[in-house]
This record gives sequence, structure tokens and C-alpha cells, in this order.
Amino acid sequence: MRCVLVSKRLDLRGYFGAEFARSAPHVELVDHAAGAQDQDIRLALAWHPPDDAFERYPNLRAVCSIAAGVDNIMACPSLPADVDVVRVVDPGQAQMMSSFIAWHVIGHQREFAAFRAQQRDRIWQRRDQRRAEDVPVGILGNGGIGQRVAADLAQLGFPVMSWSRTAKPASQAGRGFHGPAGLAAMLSETEVLVNLLPLTSETRGILNGEVFGRMRRGGYLIQVGRGEHLVEADLLAALDRGQLSGAALDVFASEPLPPAHAFWHHPRIVITPHDASDVSINAVATTLAATAAAIGAGRRPPNAIDRTRGY
Ligand code: NAP
Repeated sequence: MRCVLVSKRLDLRGYFGAEFARSAPHVELVDHAAGAQDQDIRLALAWHPPDDAFERYPNLRAVCSIAAGVDNIMACPSLPADVDVVRVVDPGQAQMMSSFIAWHVIGHQREFAAFRAQQRDRIWQRRDQRRAEDVPVGILGNGGIGQRVAADLAQLGFPVMSWSRTAKPASQAGRGFHGPAGLAAMLSETEVLVNLLPLTSETRGILNGEVFGRMRRGGYLIQVGRGEHLVEADLLAALDRGQLSGAALDVFASEPLPPAHAFWHHPRIVITPHDASDVSINAVATTLAATAAAIGAGRRPPNAIDRTRGY
């Protein structure tokens, strides 16, 4: 099956071509940018597609993302309504994300920033250390990645709460909350807030002043969802008035983060360049191969999202 590569940001062939040849040998890659225009194309691999990208492929059946999120594909105006959108589900990525988040949760709990400052000033001073059990963590998103994060943080001794759209059965990885009332209840006990939501019309702007105001004073934000979840001015205001003591930001509304952006020099913001976790190249190839096989067999591809929910 032929697959068109569509991206205005990434050289998908250069990045994935060699692994696809090994793991998805029956998928022939063609380049959208080179002018591919074909009635036969039923499969696309896309990342930040140009607005008119899908107009050329009238028989498209599925578009694969190269990541867990599909928001940049869903936002493409030429995406046909009846096409499946497929995301990558990679347990290795969940593990990477979990260790990234544990790093920041423990950094907040054990005051790494204060030790760094003491070292800079050559100050030898022990600090009162808090136990994990005294630092409740609230996780927005209880999906594939959120569940792994919750389980690992619970294992480290943190009280963990998770929020989702639909109710979940109780688990050893902490308490579950859902819906707007559940969010308010979870936030009232939350010191560290982790955002692992997909970006949808319902979740855009969810990290705002009202949410920060419901958390424990001096709380901490770990933002690894999507940049558009965050109301940036509300974060700066919450840091200024001490409602939040710090934030770790991995994703931004504008990436790369512009050089003049206020976040770069903020003393209580830690920035990473959308590097919290990665899917493996093999997981993308496997997803593409499974999608091609499903299209060939007339089945719905595994890991196709529910387009009415947006994730
Ligand atoms: P997932 O398995 O689809 O899980 C999404 C979770 O969010 C589900 O628990 C879902 O609730 C919940 N949710 C969605 N809309 C909601 C709403 N309106 N209210 C409350 N909860 C809602 O996704 P995943 O694989 O865990 O990935 C989550 C997100 O992490 C991705 O979409 C992406 O934005 C982000 N991410 C970032 C990086 C990075 O490097 N920074 C890497 C990977 C992923 P239900 O369980 O009720 O459906």
C-alpha cells in the first residue's frame, strides 16, 4: 500500500524511512511535497500538515500521527470528515514520561532549586525535608500515559489522584475523579498538578487562574500536555502572587518558544523543549503497518481515535 508523507515541519522520510523499510516493508512511501497526487492513496502519515494537504487524496481512508497526540491533524481544515485518525500508543513512551514527571515531582518535594541556589552561593545548610506522603499529586488525564504516571508515583509514596472525562473503577494507583465537580474536588487537595490531557475544544485553556487558585497554596505545575492548555498570563500571575511556587513546562503554544518570551528568564520556571518523552521510531512504523493492514482488510485501524471526542 502507498502512504503519502505530509508535514510542513519535519522530513518524515529522513526521520522514519529506514525503520519503515524494515518494519513496514509493504508500505511504499511517497512525498506530498514532491507533488504526489493520486486516486489510489488511502493512507497518510502526517505531522503538522499544510491546510490544504488532504484535498489531493479523494480516496484517503486513514491518517496516522507520529505521536500520542493528534490535535495538529484534527486542526487541518482539509481533513475529510469520514477519515480515521490514528495515534501512536507506545508503552516505552509512557515509561519515559513517567520518569520525567517523577523527576519534577521529586524536584519540587525535595527543593532542588533551593539546593542549586545554595550551591551557587556556597551555603552549607540542611533543609527540612518533606515525605512523599505529604505531597499530593493530581493528574489531569487518566489514559495510557496518565495511568503509568499514576502507578509509578504511587509506588514512590505520593498520594495520587487522577481526573478523566468518564468515571473509572478504583485502582491501586490512587483515587479517580471525573467531570467538572470531580476536578474541583481533586484540585482542593492537589499540591502538584500534572497535565496529561489531549488538546480538544473542551480542554483548551484548562490550565487557568481559577484552576491554580483551587490548588494548595505554593503548588507546582508540570505541563506536558499541549501548549494551548495553558493560559500563560494566568501562570505568570499565579507565580507572582505565590499561589504557585514553580512550574515545569515542556510544551508551548508557540514552539520553538520565541527568544523574547517571558518564560525563558523566569526564576521559577523550568523549560524543556517538548522533550518529556518520545515515541520510538519502531512504534510509529508498527502503527503504520497495522493501519495499512486494517485498511487492506476493510477494518477500522487499531488506535483510531473517536473523532467526535477529539482524542
Ligand atoms: P489517552 O490515552 O487518549 O488519554 C487521555 C485522557 O484524558 C483520558 O483519561 C481522558 O478521559 C482524558 N480526557 C480527555 N478529555 C477530557 C476532558 N474533557 N475532561 C477530563 N478528562 C479528559 O492519551 P495519552 O496517550 O495518555 O496522552 C495524553 C496526552 O499527553 C496526549 O494527547 C498529548 O497531548 C500529551 N503528550 C505529551 C507528550 C510530550 O512529550 N510532552 C508526549 C506524549 C503525550 P477518559 O479516560 O474518560 O476518556
